[in-house]
Amino acid sequence: MGNGPEVKVDVYRPSTWPKYTKGMCEGCWAGCCTLPVEVSAFDLIRLEIITEDEAASSLKKVSRRLHAEGVIQSFSAKNQLFILEQRGGRDCIFLGAKDRLCTVYEKRPQVCRSFPKIGPKPGSCPQILKKHC
Ligand code: SF4
Repeated sequence: MGNGPEVKVDVYRPSTWPKYTKGMCEGCWAGCCTLPVEVSAFDLIRLEIITEDEAASSLKKVSRRLHAEGVIQSFSAKNQLFILEQRGGRDCIFLGAKDRLCTVYEKRPQVCRSFPKIGPKPGSCPQILKKHC
């Protein structure tokens, strides 16, 4: 008997994601960077997009500016979190269009640092190799 039909990885269906193991990012198309990225004011300060003073004064005002500048798509006043803007094809605005590597890696948001430990399916990742895209 075989192992049943192979499940094709679908970035937007976490139930299809395989368990993460070290080295899986190598050669990957970076589907994880096409998922919505939730960031805090601290993340935006680390990214040098806002200052500590701006964050302390009014996050609503900050959100209006960043929305107009195409940096965020939304802000939740309730949990004080922003969602980063995405390009066509859902890519994070900080994903390199050609090499599909993070352009702000050293300053990337906490949620990116913690993935896939936290995420839609903790411990799993939507690996699709570039050569298969
Ligand atoms: S900030 Fe970098 S690691 Fe995070 S989703 Fe965007 S491109 Fe990916």
